[in-house]
Amino acid sequence: MPRILVTNDDGVHSEGIQALAAALNPLGDVTVIAPHTESSAIGHALTLRRPLRIETYKSGFYAVDGTPTDCVNLGVAVLLKNQLPDLVVSGINAGWNLGDDVTYSGTVAGALEGALLGVPAIAISLRRRPDHVFDFAPSAQAAALLAELVLRHGLPDRTFLNVNVPDGMPRGFRRTVQGKRNHITKIAERLDPRGKPYYWIEEGIDEWTLEDRSDYQAVREGYISVSLLSPDMTAYSAMEGLEALPLPEEWLNDVKTPR
Ligand code: MN
Repeated sequence: MPRILVTNDDGVHSEGIQALAAALNPLGDVTVIAPHTESSAIGHALTLRRPLRIETYKSGFYAVDGTPTDCVNLGVAVLLKNQLPDLVVSGINAGWNLGDDVTYSGTVAGALEGALLGVPAIAISLRRRPDHVFDFAPSAQAAALLAELVLRHGLPDRTFLNVNVPDGMPRGFRRTVQGKRNHITKIAERLDPRGKPYYWIEEGIDEWTLEDRSDYQAVREGYISVSLLSPDMTAYSAMEGLEALPLPEEWLNDVKTPR
């Protein structure tokens, strides 16, 4: 039986992780370890300045007062006794993780940590609806299908799938690239009862650069977006921009690698 480690950033109590674990159960030995409270937008944070504890939430489900990245590491080291799982799956997040927003996402970070440990990984997210009513069934089904494929065929080294599922019944799958959101973060200023200002970071504006192959375009057209991400953020396609920076010759020691 393959070993599957499941995490998320919405917390161990969330409906999405229950649906995901249930869908993956027929494929292997599923262990769920997730933050004990909602930790969305916590990114790839690692808790280093306080102790962490693992609590049993219910059979096969464990809660940590930490981040998804903490959970993956504690899951491997403690629950799986230092045996790497065959697959890490993170989600199902209540809300998309598309384009540039993947850098904020704790859901995506859970899968990224799997990739860094050398384990094939999948992050999966579902559209957030204004009424907060979710049907996790289609995304759970997609997660199981993709998990089965990844268990059988693997993924390239140090990569993971970022999967986003539209509302309603998906029209199929589309292979995509990371989209670009026109990034305007809205910050609301209000006054507290003592007349001092406080700030609230609000959802960014939903304007996207049009790109036929983008993850955003796929979900907008009703398809499940499947992109392949990597922790390597080097801008390979723009290396000449770095080469054009006039670093002082006498300090410079580039290693020339053939392209
Ligand atoms: Mn979340």
